[in-house]
Amino acid sequence: MRPHSKNKIRLFVETPLTSAAEVDLSADAAHYLCNVMRLNEGDTLSCFNAADGEYDARIIRAGKKNCRVRILSQIKAPAVSPDIWLLFAPLKKDKTDFVIEKATELGVRAIIPVITRNTITERVKTERFIAQAKEASEQCERTDVPVVRPPVALGTLLDSWPAERILFFLDESLGGADCVSTFDQLKGQPAAVLVGPEGGFTPGEKAELDNLPFVRGISLGPRILRAETAACAALAVWQAVAGDWKKGE
Ligand code: SAH
Repeated sequence: MRPHSKNKIRLFVETPLTSAAEVDLSADAAHYLCNVMRLNEGDTLSCFNAADGEYDARIIRAGKKNCRVRILSQIKAPAVSPDIWLLFAPLKKDKTDFVIEKATELGVRAIIPVITRNTITERVKTERFIAQAKEASEQCERTDVPVVRPPVALGTLLDSWPAERILFFLDESLGGADCVSTFDQLKGQPAAVLVGPEGGFTPGEKAELDNLPFVRGISLGPRILRAETAACAALAVWQAVAGDWKKGE
């Protein structure tokens, strides 16, 4: 929960939103608004969710643990983010936090932690990731929040992969295809990018990925990027070529 650029707080709420409805906020949200941000009855904020979009709202009851708002008029229609997922091997805490925040800002629809052979951190706090994705969504003015899935082993993920979704595997070995032309050829299809851990993919993992019909190995150029850089770079290029960065699309 953070104030957005114009200092008006944007709050993700799961409750359905319609004009004139009265909504009791969660205890966490009440604490944040009334104790941390010191808002009071009569103060305004905005509330949003993926199904209903974003609405102005006014606080009509402010307490330490409960806060009720009246929903006013709609200010943004619901909009879903492009159909791109980020699959990444969890990194050290700060770097993982960074990846979740940036992937949310870069408009991913889902975030899936993937445990590979060289993944250093197997302890994944899914609840914490979900909270971070919500907070980043509040800050960046999207109306949907990425789905954060529990961690999954790479093999399990590949065994149950939905065949129509292209999996762009970020291959640091320089053997991958050019990312711009590959994204362009496959635009319009559901997609995912897979970023390896700091230690990279093992030769066995790379061979397995290269043999799957839904996988395309791609390169992000001649330099080895840190995993968090690779995640951001791949998502940015995909959004520019095949996502919603183009005006009028
Ligand atoms: N330890 C490896 C580097 C891993 S970098 C080594 O020393 O060779 C972490 C991840 O970022 C990689 O697994 C890959 O998914 C991605 N990555 C980094 N640089 C890349 C590049 N130039 N092209 C494609 N993917 C890259």
